[in-house]
Amino acid sequence: MTTDTEVPITLEPDRTQSAGPLVDAKAQLASAVKTLGYEEGLHQLLAQPRRELTVSVPLRRDDGSVEILTGHRVQHNFSRGPAKGGLRYSPAVDLDEVRALAMWMTWKCALLDVPYGGAKGGIRIDPRKYSQGELERVTRRYTSEILPVIGPERDIPAPDIGTDEQTMAWMMDTYSVASGYTVPGVVTGKPVSLGGSLGRSSATSAGVVHIALAALAHRGIPVAGATAAVQGFGKVGAGAALFLAQAGVRVVAISDQYGAIYAASGLDIIALNDHIARTGSVVGFSAAEPLPASDLLELDVSLLIPAAIEGVLHSDNAGRVQAKIIVEGANGPTTAGADQIFKELGVLVVPDILANAGGVIVSYFEWVQSNQAYWWSASEVDERLERRMLTAWHHLLDSSAARGLTLREAATVTAVERVADAHRTRGLYP
Ligand code: NAD
Repeated sequence: MTTDTEVPITLEPDRTQSAGPLVDAKAQLASAVKTLGYEEGLHQLLAQPRRELTVSVPLRRDDGSVEILTGHRVQHNFSRGPAKGGLRYSPAVDLDEVRALAMWMTWKCALLDVPYGGAKGGIRIDPRKYSQGELERVTRRYTSEILPVIGPERDIPAPDIGTDEQTMAWMMDTYSVASGYTVPGVVTGKPVSLGGSLGRSSATSAGVVHIALAALAHRGIPVAGATAAVQGFGKVGAGAALFLAQAGVRVVAISDQYGAIYAASGLDIIALNDHIARTGSVVGFSAAEPLPASDLLELDVSLLIPAAIEGVLHSDNAGRVQAKIIVEGANGPTTAGADQIFKELGVLVVPDILANAGGVIVSYFEWVQSNQAYWWSASEVDERLERRMLTAWHHLLDSSAARGLTLREAATVTAVERVADAHRTRGLYP
């Protein structure tokens, strides 16, 4: 939703500042393969998606006209289990972006030791410009087109940018109608009333904050006195800002696609949510001052949480970043060039494949609950989520120290090693 006073900034990642997420994802894999000493055949096997499907999605608009949209589903790897990954509705979606996001899902699931491979889907669409009825028709037609490759034992979609639990309900219903019986396990991130898990909607942001607090402790920064800036105020950013504030961190700046706001004394997140419910944006919040959107990334804060889109931290702005710790709520917010600069500057970057893994962990819990038709309490979900995130964090700190690698390098090496082990043990067919 646009406000009267603000011109929306672009939703598109700034591709002029990066070679694109697929180039970054492949460079991270190549570096891990080099560390692990794998042969080129195995490298190529890990670099290529197992399956890609591009589909036309014809939509009858509310005015009767027909528009043809394009959708993708990329399944990067199945060595450790069914493919798993979100569905994105954004005007920036293209096949290379989906391929990169699918590869990162493979590493994320392996790093957190959930029994999945990686996948991702996307439709090139700006959902804000379509009615609910149109979005339902798009979702059902896309689901029908990718039906042969998804399923609880094949590939399990979940929400991502521009999609939500209603999108998952439509997918689950379309798949179930085609199957002739109800199949709750085909998607995760469903409404609780349809077999969704308690705690799923806040799982990614809760996980980001578990890791952010652990990273503050690791760097010896007391929570009282710690400050944070959060880019993006959607499913990940809004929860992260709230949980940080509840933990005692002063959240001084927040942005969304329309602009950014700043309050040195800390933003009241509950009041900000009320403002957004009325206006649709963080812009114009009376208890804060406006801030140029790009300045948010360069504030002198303890924690920077990019929770919007890829490629926002790049070679041009990384040198100006003053945050002590970056916790990647978004997938791929840091380009390879920026990573190198942060390494030289000693900025601690907690990589996306760990930091935002809370979503896939509770998706896994939801799939387990759906398959067993037995549901856990919210506190059971929260405790298990925290335990898994912190176990992975401590393991990552140890392996990064032992191997002399950055957290991203160590995380990718661990994940790639687990996937390669599974592949080698299964063997190559035929
Ligand atoms: P969302 O659609 O709910 O929210 C996206 C937010 O980013 C919105 O507030 C939007 O206004 C803002 N935004 C978009 N472009 C921006 C820009 N240029 N500058 C500042 N803000 C901008 O999406 P989400 O689910 O919160 O996902 C955000 C990121 O987190 C994505 O990278 C996604 O892949 C990743 N992620 C999401 C989940 C999940 O469970 N939803 C899990 C893991 C990772």
